[in-house]
Amino acid sequence: MAGSVLPAELLHRYFDVRGKDSIFICGGDVHGTPLELEALELEEDPQDIKDEKTRKVKEAYESLNVDFTIFSDTHSEYNRKQTHEMFEELYCNGLIDEKTQIMPYCRDDERFLPDRYIEGECPHCGGLARGDQCDDCGKLVEPTEIENAECQICGGSRIEFEETDHLFLDLTKFDDELKEWLEEEKPVPENMLNQVRHDIEEAEERSITRDQNWGFEVPTERVNKRIDEENLELEKLDPEKYDEKVLYVWFDAPIGYIGFTREYFEEYRSNKKNASSSGSADEKWKKHWDTEG
Ligand SMILES: [Zn+2]
Ligand SMILES: [Zn+2]
Repeated sequence: MAGSVLPAELLHRYFDVRGKDSIFICGGDVHGTPLELEALELEEDPQDIKDEKTRKVKEAYESLNVDFTIFSDTHSEYNRKQTHEMFEELYCNGLIDEKTQIMPYCRDDERFLPDRYIEGECPHCGGLARGDQCDDCGKLVEPTEIENAECQICGGSRIEFEETDHLFLDLTKFDDELKEWLEEEKPVPENMLNQVRHDIEEAEERSITRDQNWGFEVPTERVNKRIDEENLELEKLDPEKYDEKVLYVWFDAPIGYIGFTREYFEEYRSNKKNASSSGSADEKWKKHWDTEG
C-alpha cells in the first residue's frame, strides 16, 4: 500500500485537481505458480480461486478509499487479447525462438515441474531451494542441482529430467534500440544510466512458456495463419505440442497494465454517450500507451 499504491494514488488525485486527463489502473497478477498449486491442493478450479482473490484485494483497496479508475486482473479477456496480439507481433517479427530445455518431470503426476513445483536443498548453502532459486542465499540454482528434491504436487521424489521444447523471447535483439532510446530520451536519472546500460547488455533469451495448465494458451492458430497469409519465412508452431503449455506469467503480467487500460475503455467507456468524447475506444486506450499520443 505505502510503497506502490499510495504514491500513485496521490499523483492521480493531483492530476485530477489540476484537471489533467489521467486514469489510475491496477489489477491482480494471477497466473503465478502459487495459485495453481493452491487449486491442486484444494481440488478447485484455479479460476474460482482467482476470482475470490481478486474480489478480496479489490474490497481491501475500496475499504482504504483508493480511487482506482479500474481494478481488474491479468486473467481478463482484454489482457488475453492484448497478450496474444503482442505475442503474434513478436513471433512474426522473428523475435521468439524455440529451444529445448531439460526440466524436472514427476513420474507419479506424469507432468513437468516448472519453477516452484520442485523444492529441495540448495547445493550452495543447504537452505530451501525452490525451482531455480534459493530463498536463503538468493543464488540461482539449476533444478538438476537441487538435493533431495520433492514434487510440490504429490510430495514424492520420483523425479526425472526430461527434454521439453519452449519458446524464448530474444531480448538481445532489442539491445541497439534500447540503448539508442536510453541515450536520446534519457528516461532515467544520470546516476542510473550505467546500471541500465549494464542490464541491457546482460539481457539474454528468456523462456516465455511453461508446461502447466493455468495461464493463457499459446496462440498457435493465429500465428500459423499469419505465417501462411504473409508467406513469412518462419517455422510454424506445432499446435499439438503447444496445447500442453501456457504462456509464462512474466510474459502476460507486465502486459496486464495495457490490458487493464484496454478493458476500461472498451468495457466501461464504450457504451456511454458523451457529447464531448470523440474517437473510438481503440484510439482512446492507445492514447495512454503510444509514445506518439
Ligand atoms: Zn542457498
Ligand atoms: Zn509429483
